[in-house]
Amino acid sequence: MDTELDMSVLNLLSYGMYVVAAKSGDQLNGQIVNTIFQITASPPRIAVSINKENLTHELITQSGIFSVSILEEATPLGFIGRFGFRSGRELDKLSAVKHLRGIERCPIVVDNALAYLEVKVIDHVDVGTHTIFIGEVKRAKNLQEGTPLTYAYYHQVKGGKTSKRAATYIPPITEPPPATGEEGKYRCEVCGWIYDPEKGDPEHGIAPGTAFEDIPDEWICPVCGASKSQFTPI
Ligand code: FE
Repeated sequence: MDTELDMSVLNLLSYGMYVVAAKSGDQLNGQIVNTIFQITASPPRIAVSINKENLTHELITQSGIFSVSILEEATPLGFIGRFGFRSGRELDKLSAVKHLRGIERCPIVVDNALAYLEVKVIDHVDVGTHTIFIGEVKRAKNLQEGTPLTYAYYHQVKGGKTSKRAATYIPPITEPPPATGEEGKYRCEVCGWIYDPEKGDPEHGIAPGTAFEDIPDEWICPVCGASKSQFTPI
């Protein structure tokens, strides 16, 4: 029997990018999920895998309802970072984001969304680190025309990273060797995003050609919101 397990093969599986949101009592939260798929057509049912440590897991377990916002290709990295790398236990993620209220006032994120689903949980499966929630789609609505963001596009074109809590996270086998031409580059220890002085961060006022040392202290990682002090030189 061939026992070889090449984890990188799992990187070839295809996914989309979504915000799953839920509420319990007065607490609202949302998180990035790539592991969502339709499991039956009639009735329309979907499954989603959520890390048990996440606040959203707690809220879905308590309320039995969640929404799924289907993100558009142009979604900024900072938006994904807010929902993908920050915890709802330390940041009110929905406060600065346009959202509606659906069934039982469950929040639905509409910023950067092409469409959304409202889902009622009908079953769940404990799969260890994660729970698979199985739900019936109660409402589905289009918001705008566009191309949905795929997981591959997020990684390959946008340079996005995967949270350690994601169902599809694969730990690096070794630290990547320091390549030539990396001088002056700094890596975010939270999300892995790399600051390249040649490119700067023009979206956030850092002009191309700005050395890392010259970036103002209040600047934060454009992907996950980590502070400048959480960057280390490559
Ligand atoms: Fe970061």
